Amino acid sequence: MMGAEKGSTFFIHTFGCQMNQADSGIITALFQAEGYVQAEKELDAGIVLLNTCAVRENAVDRVEHFLQRLQGRKKREKGLIVGVAGCIPQYKREEMFSLYPAIDFLAGPDTYRTIPLLVEQVRRGGKLASLELNSKETYEGVEPVRDGVTSAFVPVMRGCNNRCAYCVVPFTRGRERSQPFSSVMLEVQKLVASGYREITLLGQNVNSYWDVEHGYDFSALLDAVSREAPKARIRFTTSHPKDISESLVRAIASRPNICNALHLPVQSGSSRMLGRMHRGHTIEEYMEKIALIRSIIPDVTLSTDIIAGFCGEQEEDHQASLALLSNVRFDSAYMFFYSTRPGTLAAETLEDDVPEAVKKRRLQEIIDLQNQISSSLFHEAIGTVVEVLAESESRRSTERLMGRTAGNRTVVFDREHHQPGDLLHVRITGATSATLTGQSVPQVP
Ligand code: SF4
Repeated sequence: MMGAEKGSTFFIHTFGCQMNQADSGIITALFQAEGYVQAEKELDAGIVLLNTCAVRENAVDRVEHFLQRLQGRKKREKGLIVGVAGCIPQYKREEMFSLYPAIDFLAGPDTYRTIPLLVEQVRRGGKLASLELNSKETYEGVEPVRDGVTSAFVPVMRGCNNRCAYCVVPFTRGRERSQPFSSVMLEVQKLVASGYREITLLGQNVNSYWDVEHGYDFSALLDAVSREAPKARIRFTTSHPKDISESLVRAIASRPNICNALHLPVQSGSSRMLGRMHRGHTIEEYMEKIALIRSIIPDVTLSTDIIAGFCGEQEEDHQASLALLSNVRFDSAYMFFYSTRPGTLAAETLEDDVPEAVKKRRLQEIIDLQNQISSSLFHEAIGTVVEVLAESESRRSTERLMGRTAGNRTVVFDREHHQPGDLLHVRITGATSATLTGQSVPQVP
């Protein structure tokens, strides 16, 4: 950014999921197309954008904290422009301006293309919001700017047509729409030419992908992507259990470079709670999907999301969640206790009646059990040799690298002559509930 005037520099703070990380790459590309320059640090930037997530209460709290700090910076720095993009503005809308005086403009998940224009208009005076949902916007033709050269996210669909009672996504991100097949393949070809070693296909409900032009479903897309990028690992997230089809599972099993790892959110082990959550399946149906997946891909690693203390949850529902964890033995889980998100179906129709202390106790029991399971599964890997894609230096030492197995397990190992981007074999010598440790070996014995 040498020589760029501060007013033409921007910095994006990204909150939330991989989809938001991918969206920040889209916004960066849109800024750069208008001549703006990405600053290395927030303090060097004349435009600060928070790309936000409204799914969890603590993500909203973090954004509020940033906005309070930016308010202080604005008092000292005339001309600083602050914008908020993504889910929170879609959720809280113009109320944001009165709540957080630091904000100059708001953009929703379907209006990123307007951001450079909003900046110009803010410079002429006033505060602006561009929050329309557009069920046709897929950002086709915008090539996201990516941080690294090893792993790339490719959003293939946006929005969600489900109506899970606790979730803000259907009204912050709107109806489902899929990126045309040809456009996904073009992006994948570019990633292959640039040497990316891992491609993750993204969508709020990725396995309901549907290409209108050719009638291709997600299994056809996944198969085609894996053939187009045969030397890259292919992953995808997030899947809805009801959209897991046998053809999708067979596509994963039949292509060696599609990782045998599935993130399959369950949310509760109780069919009664799944009904109240409007998840669209029972626990028996979920277990049938797990059995199908394991019968076709025996070495699959599974992960999930689970909520403790949803409206009306009784002790036996909670026990059913614990039993589910014991039965399935997920590799890992995102675990939360329920908090009401205003505007959702649950907020409008159900009573948030589980006391906070009970929610926290149940969550702790879930976490303790899952940690035991993860630790036991990870310890079983000691002594084996696994294929690892090196991603970065480990947080604790430049002498060690961090990478992941095809099953998405984190592995930390001695660097020796290896670099991020290398695909190598590591003999596992140690394990915790979240990480494997080991040393590289020349080849699989
Ligand atoms: S499937 Fe349910 S939880 Fe997932 S984004 Fe859609 S509404 Fe939200």
